[in-house]
Amino acid sequence: MDKSGSCLCGAVSYNIANASDTCGICHCDMCRKWSGGVYIGYQAAADQVSFNGDEHITTYASSDWAERGFCKTCGTSLFYRVTAQGPHHGQLHIGFGTLDDPSDVRANEEIFIDQKPDSYSFAGDTHKMTAAEVFAAFAPPD
Ligand SMILES: [Zn+2]
Ligand SMILES: [Zn+2]
Repeated sequence: MDKSGSCLCGAVSYNIANASDTCGICHCDMCRKWSGGVYIGYQAAADQVSFNGDEHITTYASSDWAERGFCKTCGTSLFYRVTAQGPHHGQLHIGFGTLDDPSDVRANEEIFIDQKPDSYSFAGDTHKMTAAEVFAAFAPPD
C-alpha cells in the first residue's frame, strides 16, 4: 500500500511507496524528549519516501548514529534517520502520528522497554527489547 502524511502546518508532506503495515514504539529517553511523548516509528527505506517541502525540514543530530527531522515552522517530529554507515544507513522511522491515515497499521515492536515510564503501557502483544538488546542488534561493528 502507499501512505501519505504531513506535518501539522502542512509545509512538509510525504508519500511512502510499498509502505509497511506495522510500526514500532520506542521508549528511549531521547525519543521521549524529542517527541514530547512516546515515539512511534513507521519504518521505511530512503528510496520508498518522497518528501515535498524539503526546505522546511531541519535536522538535529541526536547521536553519532542518527538524526531527527522536524518542521521548522510547526515543530512536528517527522522522522528519525540512521546516519551511521552500515546496512541500516539512510533508513527512516517516520513519525507514525504524521500519517494521514494510520488506521490499518499495527504496532508489533517496543524497544528500550526498560526506559519506559511506569505511567503508561501499550496494550497488545509486541516484541519487546531492552536498550542492551537493541544496541547488540543494531550497533555498527567497531
Ligand atoms: Zn509544519
Ligand atoms: Zn528512541
